[in-house]
Order: sequence, then C-alpha cells, then structure tokens
Amino acid sequence: MSERTAHPHSEEDSTPSLHFIEQVVVDDLASGKHKQIHTRFPPEPNGYLHIGHAKAICLSFGLAESHNGLVNLRFDDTNPEKESQEYVDAIRRDVSWLGYTWNGGEFYTSDHFDSLYAFATRLIENGKAYVDHQDAATMAEQKGSPTSPGTNSPHRDRSVEHNLQLFQEMKAGDHPDGHCVLRAKIDMGHPNMHMRDPIIYRIKRSHHQRTGDDWCIYPMYDFAHGQCDSLEGITHSLCTLEFEVHRPLYEWFIENLNIFPSRQIEFARLNLDHTIMSKRKLLRLVEEGHVDGWDDPRMPTISGLRRRGFTPQSIRTFCDRVGIAKRENVIDFSLLEWALREHLNRTAHRAMAVLDPIKLVIVNYPEGQSEELPSENNPEDPSAGHRMMPFGRNLWMERDDFKEEANKKWFRLAPGKTVRLKSAFIVRYVDHIKRADGRVEEVHVEYFPDSKSGSDNSGIKAKGTLHWVNASTAIDAEVRLYDRLFSDAAPDGHEGQDFTEFLNPNSLTVRSNCKLEPSLQQAQAGTPYQFTRLGYFSMDEEHSAQAGHPVWNRSVTLKDGWKG
Ligand code: ATP
Ligand code: MG
Repeated sequence: MSERTAHPHSEEDSTPSLHFIEQVVVDDLASGKHKQIHTRFPPEPNGYLHIGHAKAICLSFGLAESHNGLVNLRFDDTNPEKESQEYVDAIRRDVSWLGYTWNGGEFYTSDHFDSLYAFATRLIENGKAYVDHQDAATMAEQKGSPTSPGTNSPHRDRSVEHNLQLFQEMKAGDHPDGHCVLRAKIDMGHPNMHMRDPIIYRIKRSHHQRTGDDWCIYPMYDFAHGQCDSLEGITHSLCTLEFEVHRPLYEWFIENLNIFPSRQIEFARLNLDHTIMSKRKLLRLVEEGHVDGWDDPRMPTISGLRRRGFTPQSIRTFCDRVGIAKRENVIDFSLLEWALREHLNRTAHRAMAVLDPIKLVIVNYPEGQSEELPSENNPEDPSAGHRMMPFGRNLWMERDDFKEEANKKWFRLAPGKTVRLKSAFIVRYVDHIKRADGRVEEVHVEYFPDSKSGSDNSGIKAKGTLHWVNASTAIDAEVRLYDRLFSDAAPDGHEGQDFTEFLNPNSLTVRSNCKLEPSLQQAQAGTPYQFTRLGYFSMDEEHSAQAGHPVWNRSVTLKDGWKG
C-alpha cells in the first residue's frame, strides 16, 4: 500500500538522525567488521537515468562520501539486446553531473563473465547446479505456487560429469537458444519461490556491446548481481524493496560459493506523482514521439531535469528530504520544485523579461532620451552586485498586467492606477490604445522623475511593482513554459488504460514573441536566472541552436501553483 507524503515548506530544525542503512554502516565500522565501506550503483544501460535512480545514487555515493568509503559504478550489462553505449555514456554523464565520482572504479557485469562462468562450474562440481532441458512452460508449471510446493525436474539428478559436459556444450554453442538452461539445485518445496531451483544461465545468441560474440550464454540477474558484488568487495549492496524476496537467494550463493559476504539491504523506491518512472515506459514516450527525446525538459530523467534547469544541488536536497524508508510511498512532484526554488532563490541572478508583451509608452519621457538604472542581481546575496538597466520612453510590459476595468484589489495598471516600474520610476495611467478587434496594443503612462528607485522623494504611493523591458535594447526570444507531463497523479495506476492516455495536452506552451533585458545577451546556456515575477529560467543550448534565436526554458514558477 502506498501513502502520500506532503512536503515540508519550511526549513525546520532537524538534528541529523541516521537512517537505518547508515546505522548499519556506522555499526559495521565501529565493530571493525569493515575497515572501509564499499558501495556500488548498478544501472542497466538500457535507458537514461531518472529521478528514482538519483535517489539510489545519492544513497550509495552519499554514504561512501560521508564515511570515507569507496563506490563503484557498475553497468549491469547482461541483457545485450536492450543495452547500448549511448546509455552508458548518458549514465556516466548524469552521475558526474550530480557531483559524484566512482572512486572505487568503473565495472561492467561483463567484466566478470569468466568468473561467473567459473562460479557456475563450481556449483555444478559441488552438486548444486544442473542443466535442465525442459521448455519454459513446463518449468513454470513445476514451480508450484506460493501455497503449494513445486515438483522436481526429471533432469535434477543428472551426474556432476554429465552436467559439466552439458554446461560446456552450452558455452561452446552446441545447443540452440532456449534449448536448455542451468539451474541452481536448491529446494523445489521452498516457501520462497525464488529458491525453487532458479535459472542461473540461459543460451542467448545476441551480440554484446562489449564482449561481442564471445558468449552465447548469459547469467541471469540473480546470479550475476550478487556475485559481482562479492568479486568487487562490496560491503553494503543497497537496492530497492522488490529485491527483498531475492535476498535469501543472494545469501545462498554467497554461502555455497564461499565468497566475500556482501550484504544486501533494501530501501523503498522513489515514486513521484504525475510521473512514470520505468525506463521501459520512458522509452515508449521517446519512441512514440510524445516527447522530444530522453532529455526533453518534461521528462523525469536526470538529463531532462538538467535541461529544464534543475541544479545538482536541488536534486540532492530533494533526495535528502525524501529520506530513506522501508515502506513505499508517493512523493509530491512539488517537493522537487520546492528544492529547486529553495536553491535558486539563494543563487540565481535576477533579470527582467516580458513573455506576452504590449507597448508601454511613457508620454512625458523625452523621445530619443535614455538612461541607465541600477538593479540588484540578487536581493538574497548582496555580493552578487547589480547591473545597469537601460530605460527610455518606449518599454514592453506584460499583457496581463493591464486591465481596462479593475477594482480596488488590482495593484497593476488600469485606468486610474499608479504603479512602480521595478528598479525605475512610479508611473500613472494616462490612456490606452486598442486594435479594431478590441485587443489592447499600447498603454500610455506618465512618470514621476523624482520617484526613482533608491532616491524616491516623490511622496507618491504605488502598491504594485511591475517588471518591464526597454524596447530599443530588448532581445527577442522564445520561452517554453512547462507543466506536468501527465494530468493524472498516477498515470500508470489505471487498469485497462495505457499511461499515454493521461498525457497532459498542455504540458508545453511556447511563447515565441518574448522580450528580454539586454544583459541576458551574455547568459550562458544552462545558467539559471530568476525572471522577476515569473519564475526561474535558463537558456536551452540545443533548442537555441536549432531555432537560430535564443530559446529559454522555464524551470519552475516562483510559487507552487499546483497544490493537488
Ligand atoms: P526501471 O524500473 O526504471 O527500469 P530499474 O530498477 O530496472 O529501473 P536499474 O538500472 O536496474 O533500473 O536500476 C539501478 C539501480 O537504481 C537499482 O539498484 C535500483 O534499485 C535503483 N532504482 C531504480 N528505480 C528506482 C527508484 N524509483 N527509486 C530508487 N531507486 C531506484
Ligand atoms: Mg533493473
């Protein structure tokens, strides 16, 4: 069962208390069981990493980091058909970007194929594995059910010599794909179904991205994973809860092969609402063209979040806040956004941009005149300094900052209203011009020369402050606004309905006629800015190059507009 977790809005005082896995680590170091801990992150290179993986990464790398340990990056490449170098490269890039280094080394399960083969042979020699020639359906039937024991295969009692010979033949390619398998000989009556003589090797002729055609037999996950942990000297092998039922098998192999006793510990996987988190389903979004690639800014992938403008620190803060639990739950997507706002509010420079521009004319400001007004780069960080904003008679303002009719609660522009232009002057409504179809095109105001921000002695009160951009120096840009990719909180939780049915048709809004202040000419792709009153944005290198003009992504709005 899952439960919803609301997210914290404040920095409550939290004395760091150890989560249950860290407690094990601390105890193992204190007792001398291990002098140094050694963890690993074992992705299968069959897709890009997502925010769920980030949680696993932060846990394994984070523990090693804070306890002077080692951590390996291990590509679990036992399924050649679905894996590729593109994914390996993307995984490396994403882990590095999160700020981690695999100081214990980079490994591939395929590095260990010889050792794994030797382990399998050892099991056969000890009478603990056998070659089975039955088809998959028959073996499944013999497995029994959780409430009834299975039955032994007729091949279970083959001699060691015969099994050794058959296994060598499997390796040599003497048998067609699927013709036979190697099984561990454990107990067909075991209450744990995974212990009922699990398959440990299968024949599969497919080209492997690293070992080519050297092998036509491949180890199964359960046989590869734990043994690689041992071979690499992993002390704490941390994985998600679905592997809990595999743990007895993990330990059976260690015991029966008499190898380094890595310890598997499980934790709850990260689930986020309005999101899907399986690589297989994310691949479908890409292949079916619902998104613009694995790194589409709406994707819950690390590369998508990076492109959207998330910072490594915000993702690490998020993982930290989610915590390590033993019970599955669903986290609000808005916690992720909170973590980004929290980081960027402290660090991002401010700038002004108008996304839906209409003209704002200062009728008493002389034509042809201009001046430069200082504006602070970050009110949270005085050391960030200020920049000069060009100001003149013709400006751009936001369309929805003007109303033809407004009541007392409207603090923006309207007939009769007075507002401050951010870092500039107080202005008062004079007039506005509409097109034939009724659309407002221009708003005319007069300004008060002695109301300049920082040296205001006009005595005039303005309740609202509007952002603006000087027309003659504005940069034309496109801005992409993103919303949840799915409109349903649990898109893959509806029986009989495909998750793609719940895609949010409004997840992307393109504003093609935006005006940015000229200082953003110097902006680097990926550097976050707060656009005053609008949210956090960063320039998208790839989209800008494709479009031939600057394209900016909105990373997150200033406030949580999605309570739901
Ligand atoms: P997916 O189901 O998305 O394809 P996976 O578990 O098959 O994910 P792997 O590449 O095998 O992907 O995962 C590498 C590691 O990341 C595993 O140890 C796995 O437990 C962990 N992991 C995967 N998804 C999550 C998640 N949502 N939360 C926490 N850890 C996760
Ligand atoms: Mg997996």
